[in-house]
Amino acid sequence: MDMKPYIGVWTSRNEMLQMGFKEALRFYADCGITVIVEGYGAYHPEYYKNLRYPVVERREEHPTLEEVRQMAEEVGIEVEVVMDPKEGPGVRKYPETAIMDVFGNRSTLVACPSNPDVQALTLARLRDLLENNDWVSRVEFDGLYIDMHQRMTNRRGQPPALYPLHHLAPESCFCEYCKAIAREEGANMERIEEAVKEVVKVSLEPSYEAFLRISDTFRGHYDVVRYFLGRPELLEWIRIRCLILERAFEAIYETIKSIDPKVKISHDMLPPTWSWSLAQDYRRHRAYADNFKIIFFNKRTGSYEANPLIAIKDADPEIPDGDIMDLFSRLTGYEGPLSLSAFSQEGFPPINVYYELRKAREEVGASFPLIAGIVGDAPARPEDVEAAVEASAKGGADGFCLHTWYGHTTPSNYAAFGNKAREFAKPL
Ligand SMILES: [Zn+2]
Repeated sequence: MDMKPYIGVWTSRNEMLQMGFKEALRFYADCGITVIVEGYGAYHPEYYKNLRYPVVERREEHPTLEEVRQMAEEVGIEVEVVMDPKEGPGVRKYPETAIMDVFGNRSTLVACPSNPDVQALTLARLRDLLENNDWVSRVEFDGLYIDMHQRMTNRRGQPPALYPLHHLAPESCFCEYCKAIAREEGANMERIEEAVKEVVKVSLEPSYEAFLRISDTFRGHYDVVRYFLGRPELLEWIRIRCLILERAFEAIYETIKSIDPKVKISHDMLPPTWSWSLAQDYRRHRAYADNFKIIFFNKRTGSYEANPLIAIKDADPEIPDGDIMDLFSRLTGYEGPLSLSAFSQEGFPPINVYYELRKAREEVGASFPLIAGIVGDAPARPEDVEAAVEASAKGGADGFCLHTWYGHTTPSNYAAFGNKAREFAKPL
């Protein structure tokens, strides 16, 4: 297939079933889409027989990935296959495979990428995919990171935590495997653990008094430097976590390239403003990818980022909304309305997309491909989608990917996305 500009869409099986797969694909092609991102549902048992945790043999539902690929090819669309490295064998069933916080609690959502059994499963999935589908030339990873929570979607019900302590002292992962890598990298884990514990304890008990102490003393960026100067273990921990995650990036890269060096590897990255809090380091980890997709969820990154802020408010209703938002915007550079409800409805404005791309570009250099992930469902309107595409192109994006949020993207948002992306997208 000729190299076309990268204008991707995270498809929704439901939407495609409702419209009919062929009709849906034709509609995407008409909108200018050149790549769709699809999952892989087949499990060939021979790939999983030496793993510690059993994998249930599953046949793919129709249409299979191969069938989708054939239909897509007819309308000139390429298929990129997505894998989720956070799944593991299932952290609810096997909590010992989950991310662990500094107090020994396990995540109920995210598997630890340093756990050898989690990693073995991820690599077995990859071999299963690539050896049974020799046409696959693009694989995307749905967020390889270290966190107790699933970020971006930030579900309600997580414990409240004070910003910026919540991010300056990452509470995870203190599992035996992560700690072993940290020690290999020369970290003094006793000192780090002690420093992280002390800050996490303060962060997890939000009161108006604790909030004021932070809000009155974190006035600008320089205050973060001052804070780290007194607690160098925290900065060391943030650096070490990126080195821990580098092992997982490397294992995935080596496995894919050893099977087929032509397969392009795409990693979903959180925006640079807070990617470091999840152990993602654009500068370091670009060596293990052919491109990065920056998941913005513009607009949506409001309704979801509001949830952890609402949890602070719930912990002590005396803390004024406006003050929570004011601190948040000082810390993140958010430039939007300063009420929790407006933030949750309107999200990050497109100007933030521009700045995040600028930061990402600064980290990865001029030639490394960056794909901007743009959200397409409500509350985003066609003009928001266009503005986000334009802002990311201006910031240095080479390609674009529309997140359809499981079928909730309006047809006019698809069209707006494709039309605008066509003006700027490059072949990747
Ligand atoms: Zn771990």
